[in-house]
Amino acid sequence: IKCENSCWSQLIVMNRTSRLRSGTVPGVGLVHAPFSLLPTRFPASFWKQACELAPIFNELVDRVSLDGKFLQGSLSRTKQVDDFTARLLEIHAKMMAVNKKEDIRLGLHRSDYMLDSETNSLLQIELNTISTSFPGLGSLVSELHRTLLNQYGEVLGLDSERIPRNWAAIQFAEALGKAWVEYNNESAVVMMIVQAEERNMYDQYWLINHLKESDGRPVAVVYFRAGYAPTDYPSEVEWSARLLIEQSSAIKCPSISYHLVGTKKIQQELAKPSVLERFLDNEEDIAKLRKCFAGLWSLDNEEIVKSAIEKPDLFVLKPQREGGGNNLYGHDLRETLIRLKNEQGEALAAYILMQRIFPRASLTQLVQGGVCFEELSISELGIFGSYLRNKDKVVINNQCGYLMRTKVSSSNEGGVAAGFAVLDSILLT
Ligand code: ADP
Ligand code: MG
Ligand code: MG
Repeated sequence: IKCENSCWSQLIVMNRTSRLRSGTVPGVGLVHAPFSLLPTRFPASFWKQACELAPIFNELVDRVSLDGKFLQGSLSRTKQVDDFTARLLEIHAKMMAVNKKEDIRLGLHRSDYMLDSETNSLLQIELNTISTSFPGLGSLVSELHRTLLNQYGEVLGLDSERIPRNWAAIQFAEALGKAWVEYNNESAVVMMIVQAEERNMYDQYWLINHLKESDGRPVAVVYFRAGYAPTDYPSEVEWSARLLIEQSSAIKCPSISYHLVGTKKIQQELAKPSVLERFLDNEEDIAKLRKCFAGLWSLDNEEIVKSAIEKPDLFVLKPQREGGGNNLYGHDLRETLIRLKNEQGEALAAYILMQRIFPRASLTQLVQGGVCFEELSISELGIFGSYLRNKDKVVINNQCGYLMRTKVSSSNEGGVAAGFAVLDSILLT
């Protein structure tokens, strides 16, 4: 398999963490991204359901982003105890104060789901609106799996046609390109903001590959593949840069409002009764969204905090962070809740509680560091969505590809770049 498909395995690469200059200099310290040897089975009905949700979530993000008071109000208590969210809100408030309008709005999102075995339903884990990763490598893994099944599918009894086509990288690049067209300045460029050391450089490469590189030009579109974590702002310089970008006429992907809509706190607020109705008119759409919402609670709900302390394994405790590795489970969840409760004040407002979802585990062959091993695993399906709007004209509102991530069932967290999961694709059943 290695020889015949080496072209694919060479392209699905990341930076090794241990190598000097890996993550800063392209081509240095490459290692293949972890992947599953074969696609994971996924029921076609849930796949269809997840795809249908993408344009509705795109629309929802846009509507919510326009309601500055809702964003500020929902996050007002979080702000008091979470400095990072407070800084984002500060930029947002400055834009509100000058009544800044974003006529052209670009969203590149990924809504993540797990199949809950207890209720046999598709439940949303979260909606990412900033730096949604793996449109690049995710599409390649789908192609790798198709190639493998084209060659060995008969022996394995698996049909490569049952792997949905995945054009996420091309479609993300297309949306960035179309946003540039809407900006309507021939000499302007698309600027991608990246982290100083980026393990996932080659996922980003696939987008750049479809766009041209140039310097010293006006910026039409700012595409953030950084700026979602406190560590992305080591000094005031980075915060002023974020503010400057927000004040500029460039299209931001995401704008500060889109960024805030993607916080865990807003996810929880949107799941409250009657809140979706504030933003969407179509009842069918609202019902579809609600159907995929898991239990979500604010920590001012004493009953739920008590239940979570009693049965921590039925919940996940989430701070306002992105990128994996930040949530609390089981014993840690219980201890943290008890400590925060005793601290009194607003400390609990930094978190939300979520119903824990239990996907059915199955045996999977995972390939990590060139070694293949079999483990009981669970999966999380992400559906990419692109949205572009210029005033009243919706230019794009699409589902555009997917990312399947699979991890050993004993691991709580799920990030690939964070080292918890492998890249996967799906085989419709
Ligand atoms: P992040 O923004 O850091 O990716 P997530 O909400 O996606 O935060 O949580 C990280 C990982 O934790 C997910 O990829 C998933 O594997 C796991 N997780 C999150 N929420 C739940 C949940 N409600 N039930 C089970 N696992 C969860
Ligand atoms: Mg996230
Ligand atoms: Mg996530």
